[in-house]
Amino acid sequence: MTKRYEGIKASTGYAIGKIYLFTREKIEVNQASISPDSADSEYQKVKDAINAYFDDLSNLDNPTEAQQNIANAHKELLQDPYFSDTIESKIKNENKNSELALDETIREMVEIMSALDDEYLKERASDYQDIGFQVMYKLKGIKPKDLSKLEKGSIIISKELTPSDTANMDKEAVVGFATDLGGKTSHTSIIAQTLDMPALVGMADVSTKLKGGEKAIIDGYEGILIINPSDDEVAKYEKLIAELKEKKERLKNIKDLQAVTTDGKHIEVSANIGNIEDLKLAIENGCDGVGLFRTEFLYMESSEFPSEEVQFAVYKEATEMLGKKPLIIRTLDIGGDKGLDYFKFPVEENPFLGYRAIRLCLDKEDIFRTQLRALVRASAFGNLKIMIPFVVNIDELKKSIELIEEIKKDLDKEGIAYNKDLDVGIMVETSASIIMADKFIKYADFFSIGTNDLTQYTLAVDRGNENIAHMYSNYNPAVLRAIKHVIDVSHEAGKWTGMCGAFAADTEATKLLLGLGLDEFSGSSAKIAEIKDTIIKSSQKEEKLFAEKAIDLELASEVEALVKEHNK
Ligand code: PEP
Ligand code: MG
Repeated sequence: MTKRYEGIKASTGYAIGKIYLFTREKIEVNQASISPDSADSEYQKVKDAINAYFDDLSNLDNPTEAQQNIANAHKELLQDPYFSDTIESKIKNENKNSELALDETIREMVEIMSALDDEYLKERASDYQDIGFQVMYKLKGIKPKDLSKLEKGSIIISKELTPSDTANMDKEAVVGFATDLGGKTSHTSIIAQTLDMPALVGMADVSTKLKGGEKAIIDGYEGILIINPSDDEVAKYEKLIAELKEKKERLKNIKDLQAVTTDGKHIEVSANIGNIEDLKLAIENGCDGVGLFRTEFLYMESSEFPSEEVQFAVYKEATEMLGKKPLIIRTLDIGGDKGLDYFKFPVEENPFLGYRAIRLCLDKEDIFRTQLRALVRASAFGNLKIMIPFVVNIDELKKSIELIEEIKKDLDKEGIAYNKDLDVGIMVETSASIIMADKFIKYADFFSIGTNDLTQYTLAVDRGNENIAHMYSNYNPAVLRAIKHVIDVSHEAGKWTGMCGAFAADTEATKLLLGLGLDEFSGSSAKIAEIKDTIIKSSQKEEKLFAEKAIDLELASEVEALVKEHNK
């Protein structure tokens, strides 16, 4: 009998195959206490296990890029002194044996990371879980099952897949996967997207309902897993797979084209990045530039505030990699849910509305100056632009510009080169910056709309609160009118507006945003070709008329229905 299960769409695409049920070895953790005189040798056992996993990660045989990225991330986490210190303390101060100390430490780390509001950091919990399994296997001398040798056409079903399970998967054999646990922004989901493999996560307890060997379909667009599909359904999906393959082939030839509408309007299609690895991927995917470089990761991955030289090296490398193409670097957007191990944030009731981003930077001017100096120096090597986040008051922008001008004067004195025409723009992501856009544009060289925050503040809907997730919609006419206002104001001043919030990469919204007058789209690299394809086939004049109709509606649901109909 046919059965359907729904889940979260982790990676789009369709797959038809046979279920491979992946279950992990059951690990019994030794609960016994140890005597204090065996503490040293017990701790040594964990250290040896950690080192053995570290060695495995350092000696990967011909790793793919995804494997290498995970290996680097895990090596960094394994070297975190907090991790080893916690284990050591449990063994030496609490008389716990090596297995129990490791198990408890991993559980605590997973719990801490899972409780964070930031989706990216939250998902690092799965990296800790992964490390926990791997180090425990070493400690217990277990050879883990792996997914590198499977039958062709396998659909993997599992309670969860760790990032290394996903990276080690036999790409020739596996056509898709679905897991009980996991979120959309998990490493596992991101790898599935990079591999272009359909995947579903958050499927409740589906792994307990299947035996393995069943025929199945994954529909990564609708978020459904179909078990024992009918012949008609198989035929329908075979057709969809063939059409998708054809579309992907076509998009391959489009990624490096310029996105010009049928009536001659050139639109930039750029990428959001967090590091140099992301930039490599963006360039491979045909980006016209970078619309958002989130520099906070540079700070979060460091054990102290990164020096001017460390930052300069990264910004210069990124600038040079892009040549003449623009690289918009956002100054430190820390605070809210993004903390730093080495900086104590004040305890606040509403950290998202608190001491964060430009507020912190202007308060701790030395930290801000270090970053600005690195940025201004790197501007000598390409088309770098500076972007200030979370701006509310005009003087926050004016003060930032003043600091940049002071730095330029210092560099002149020191005979250090920089770009004299360096652009400074702002992220429009607060209500104040929308309402005051006409004033901001006097000082800003460009706007970039951060819809993730703009939608949250316009609608007063917390972007991470599941209880009201249904109210968080970029298609709400209030959000669309705000977007249009900001774009119109910038155009009247002869300047431009981009978008670096996730709405820019929502391919259902491309025509709508084009019609609202957006000049630059910046989002996930994987979406670049599709966005360009839509733009190339559209007329801006026609989409403008459509957008006017959309913003005249009353509800997000009405806009979404209209957009869906229009995109057909
Ligand atoms: C935004 O708010 O839309 C944005 C791009 O910034 P972040 O998601 O980093 O807050
Ligand atoms: Mg933001």
